[in-house]
Amino acid sequence: MIIAANDIVDWVSDRGDLLIAAWTPQIATMTDWEVPYAKALAGELHDGMVTSLLRGGTEANFLNLVAKSNTGLDARTERDLAERFFGVTLKLARAAHRHAQDGKATALPFKYGTVVGDARTDPSHLPLADVLLPREHPFWTRWQPPFGMDCRCGTIGMTNGQLARSGRSITPDEALPAIEAQLRDTWPAEFRPLLDFRQPPAPATPQQPTITLSQQQLDDILSAFRPDTD
Ligand SMILES: [Zn+2]
Repeated sequence: MIIAANDIVDWVSDRGDLLIAAWTPQIATMTDWEVPYAKALAGELHDGMVTSLLRGGTEANFLNLVAKSNTGLDARTERDLAERFFGVTLKLARAAHRHAQDGKATALPFKYGTVVGDARTDPSHLPLADVLLPREHPFWTRWQPPFGMDCRCGTIGMTNGQLARSGRSITPDEALPAIEAQLRDTWPAEFRPLLDFRQPPAPATPQQPTITLSQQQLDDILSAFRPDTD
């Protein structure tokens, strides 16, 4: 597997602190290590992933780097952990990259959910397959997949023509509450800040409170700063 998109490297590289904070508790659990050691290993894995992505982005390259780094773990645990770190981090980076691409793809005004639907699929994600909405619909700010570490759900963009030919119709807003009631997101809380492809648009910057002073109040304030003349 080769990852070429510079945006993905940038995403992983720019989010070092968030990724380390998200992975530390996971690594502590997987290794039974104290938090400071888990955090140090998260930092090493992050560095190794950035290096591997810059070198062309193969998972094999990353696993080799980790194997040479003397983590002190047994080989099996080390490999499981490295594979999970790489796979899940890449999934998040790709989702963010796809979201950025979606934002530019004005020729694809609609998108629909895709669900693998095999035995490994979380059944709570199945209703995503019924969702076809304008790409700017707020549903996608709440439920842009993946919905968890093991989720393989996704979305695909659609042109007006593809929508017409598909024979499908846009999911009515009335159907969304029932769908959303079934969908389940299993990202651990520490991963939430990394789901930036799902954040609703930032609210308008709050206005600074305006203080209105009378001329007398203004004169009183200014007079306090006037040098004494006597
Ligand atoms: Zn899923």
